[in-house]
Amino acid sequence: MNIKSIRSQFPILEQKIHGKPLVYFDNGATTQKPLSVIQRINDYYARENANIHRGVHTLSQEATTAYENARTMIQNYLGAKENHEILFTKGTTDGINLVAFSFGELLKAEDEIIISAMEHHSNIVPWQMLCERKGCKLRIIPMDEKGDLVLDTYDSLLSNKTKLVAVTHISNALGTVNDVEHIIKKAHAVGAKVLIDGAQSIQHIQVNVQELDCDFYAFSGHKLFGPTGIGVLYGKEEILNLMPPYQGGGDMIKEVTLEKTTYNSLPHKFEAGTPNIAGGIGLGTAFEFLNSLDMKEVVKHEQELLEYATSELEKIEGIKFYGQAKVKTSVISFLIEGLHPYDVGTLLDKMGIAVRTGHHCTQPIMNQFCIPGTIRASFAFYNTKGEIDVFIKALNRIIPMLKN
Ligand SMILES: *Cc1c(COP(=O)(O)O)cnc(C)c1O
Repeated sequence: MNIKSIRSQFPILEQKIHGKPLVYFDNGATTQKPLSVIQRINDYYARENANIHRGVHTLSQEATTAYENARTMIQNYLGAKENHEILFTKGTTDGINLVAFSFGELLKAEDEIIISAMEHHSNIVPWQMLCERKGCKLRIIPMDEKGDLVLDTYDSLLSNKTKLVAVTHISNALGTVNDVEHIIKKAHAVGAKVLIDGAQSIQHIQVNVQELDCDFYAFSGHKLFGPTGIGVLYGKEEILNLMPPYQGGGDMIKEVTLEKTTYNSLPHKFEAGTPNIAGGIGLGTAFEFLNSLDMKEVVKHEQELLEYATSELEKIEGIKFYGQAKVKTSVISFLIEGLHPYDVGTLLDKMGIAVRTGHHCTQPIMNQFCIPGTIRASFAFYNTKGEIDVFIKALNRIIPMLKN
């Protein structure tokens, strides 16, 4: 992998922060954007802007084509059967809420939903709200001290009462890659549907929704080198067809009278109102960018970064890692004895290094470890071993400063 040429496509990586070259290790929160995505959005607004699915005029038709081509690009990348199984949303949170509200309408009291102990708040709260509305029960797959899910317990939670299993593919706080193939197979055996929170996956591993056989797959554009405010919910056609619309408005209708409305077909049934057109088109370009990479090389490089950073961090006295799962992506959560993560994060920033500190929207994980939060370094393919050296050197300067 030619990292230098890849880095040259990300203008922000040239930035200086407090006079120091930016070392961006907060890819779990959001990723940087390649020039192609930035230019595509710029071009859209400069030359093509119009509302879609409406006008007969040229610009409207061109904008519609560009937006729908992005949908097809994403369909092909994810290996979805149909283009209308790709629903544009605002992001992962929006996609999960869509399922919780719409699929949730098909559930009744005493039905059960299973999530795990390592979910992002976005994959906890919508289900708690659904359980309050409908009287459903929420069951939790536990996590062990290494950060792996206890799948034997999962198997015993499943029953014919289980209607939906919603789990994350990869943990944003710990990097754990969950055995979603097993989770999906077992859920289907009792007739339950499965939603995968894919917010941390597509940027790190190859994902094929038909091979996984998941029923829903939700993710955000901004975490895979695309714009903010746009994401995708993949859903199997036959299930989406059973589900009522989530929001009412323009574009989602077939015919409206003041008494009654009939709904549009997929995907429009779930896309009420003028969407984030520039975002959708920009997301298509982000997928084109992903397509230009060799995912095997990406995985290899990111694993090297993970191993190198872990072995260098291990040399630091008093360091404790959180999340040492069997299969992990390039996320390292840690604490240094006697130091507050916020202080470490603030001083790292002064040296140009961006890491995340806090609970990472996963308070139940922090509660299980009895800590308020961690320092999290999360790498993307554009990061380098040289940047890790800068990071380790910075930590070695900071630690004595904070201990005195
Ligand atoms: C970031 C993230 C979310 C939420 O994504 P938004 O873009 O904020 O909607 C959900 N789950 C996981 C695992 C995440 O990393």
